[in-house]
Amino acid sequence: MYTQNCIQCDAKYTPEEILYTCPKCSGLLEIIYDWSGQSISRKDFEGIPLSLWKYKALLPVEREPVTTNEGGTPLYKCERLGESFGTGTFYVKHEGLNPTGSFKDRGMTVGVSKALELGMKTVACASTGNTSASLAIYGAKAGIPVVVLLPAGKVAMGKVAQAIMHGAKVLSIKGNFDDALKLVRDLCDNEGFYLLNSINPYRLEGQKTIAFEIVDQLGWEVPDRVVLPVGNAGNITAIYKGFKEFYELGLTDKIPKMTGIQAEGACPVVNAFKQRLNDIVPVSNPETVATAIRIGDPVNAIKALRAIYQSGGLAESVSDEEIIAAQKDLARIEGIGVEPASASSVAGFRKLFGMGIIEPGETVVCVTTGHLLKDPEEVLSICESPIEVEATAESVRKAVFS
Ligand SMILES: *Cc1c(COP(=O)(O)O)cnc(C)c1O
Ligand SMILES: [Zn+2]
Repeated sequence: MYTQNCIQCDAKYTPEEILYTCPKCSGLLEIIYDWSGQSISRKDFEGIPLSLWKYKALLPVEREPVTTNEGGTPLYKCERLGESFGTGTFYVKHEGLNPTGSFKDRGMTVGVSKALELGMKTVACASTGNTSASLAIYGAKAGIPVVVLLPAGKVAMGKVAQAIMHGAKVLSIKGNFDDALKLVRDLCDNEGFYLLNSINPYRLEGQKTIAFEIVDQLGWEVPDRVVLPVGNAGNITAIYKGFKEFYELGLTDKIPKMTGIQAEGACPVVNAFKQRLNDIVPVSNPETVATAIRIGDPVNAIKALRAIYQSGGLAESVSDEEIIAAQKDLARIEGIGVEPASASSVAGFRKLFGMGIIEPGETVVCVTTGHLLKDPEEVLSICESPIEVEATAESVRKAVFS
């Protein structure tokens, strides 16, 4: 049993109503469960291999899900990188190892399953890239059309490749992500398409399983802090909700400090946090190498700020240089290949430790949200080019030792 509740005025709506915001006050919605009369214990989850649908009892889907085996991503223990940072060992939850290479798959397996359950015929989203790649595969699997709106020229190549190969109708909008989101919301309202951006409360339900898996992988321990990139601010909200639900079910005994990282050129949530505000002032021309978080007006900002305040967490920004350095360090010291946005979590962790805000001894999990291969052009622009040599043993030897 669950309802869609407005976070602002507390109005409640049934699960079947097709809503993205509260009709009364325009507040954001969240799925709230009534688990009374249901006993959920640790035993229910033990001995089952890790995957998103392991947690079906805590997800708002009744039908057979549309799935491509999402979740169950590794939690890496980073000893060498922690040593080089001087921070001590920390963990990386590598969401780049989901089916399309980002955590968006968690939201979409639930979101598209829900779309079918609600009888929706077409699904749509605006995207900085990963959302479109993900929606494209679940739409394909479900056998329904997918429409995606991308900001022209600002989407990493790997992501566009996925969206077009999997058969989505891809529109390149002459504007930024925030413009594309406004346009797709309008399209969905007028055409009856199902909107699967993170304003959709069902999508965030899928993403909350990142929290469940972290707890599972730490043997029912809850980390002191979870650090992750913030763009449209859905994921930080979702992960917080996951930890909160485990806590409320009595499965765990605390909630980690939710720590959101944004790029300096696109950091409205950080600005709001630093002034202790409950809402953001949009940034009009967001700019960063981390295209997945190049967002000036995050729709879930109010929810995200609540998650940060209620968990005793914080928000901090990092420069593109710090992001690139962390991306290289992850790749070269830990063998973890991530796209720039993902590296901002590790860059933020390093910076906050250096500032004395993250303390030695804290158990920290950084979430890396997307795979390295998403953005090969960025890689080619920051790394040494392959060395061209004549096909002779002598030239090869010379090049190796030069
Ligand atoms: C979508 C995305 C983000 C941002 O997540 P939000 O929920 O929009 O805050 C960060 N990194 C990557 C790789 C993403 O695809
Ligand atoms: Zn309301």
